Amino acid sequence: MTINFKGIHEKTLVLIKPDGIQRGLVGEVLHRFERKGLKIVGMKMMSLDEVILRDHYQHIVDKPFFPGVAAFMQSSPVMVICLEGLQVVSTVRKLVGITKSCDAEAGTIRGDFAMSVACNVVHASDSVENAVSEVSRFFHENEILSYSKGEYEHIYMSDERVDE
Ligand code: ADP
Repeated sequence: MTINFKGIHEKTLVLIKPDGIQRGLVGEVLHRFERKGLKIVGMKMMSLDEVILRDHYQHIVDKPFFPGVAAFMQSSPVMVICLEGLQVVSTVRKLVGITKSCDAEAGTIRGDFAMSVACNVVHASDSVENAVSEVSRFFHENEILSYSKGEYEHIYMSDERVDE
């Protein structure tokens, strides 16, 4: 059976959280995404206000630990990144590792650089549906760029690439 991957390139949202910024891990984290072959299509620094945080973390807003998470996420700016690639949402979740960093697999970002549940270096969208709403929550349309990456020829087979 031939599997045709054409057309299923996705976008996903990554935040490098305040612990990643303060501990100087921005380059390390970006390096992991770049060497995997993912395309950076948007990136900026932001300080998160209460409104965007409550929206972004609406699934945990009623949990007792939310105020602590909110204070942590506002303790310094974050790096906001949009990545693109074939099945990028699930790929990035694998690179990031599980929420509880002390149990995260060695080789993942959380497994290699963190110990905490809350201070776990990065956020990454957990589904294609959430990725779509998270990218539009953090970026204006004109901040997401479309461009060709020469190295795609050596990262994907032709039927795995999207025509650009
Ligand atoms: P993930 O970021 O792995 O998708 P969740 O969506 O479940 O995890 O939680 C969002 C964020 O809230 C986590 O990344 C972490 O920073 C924080 N968090 C989750 N559970 C806890 C907890 N039990 N105690 C403290 N912080 C938590």
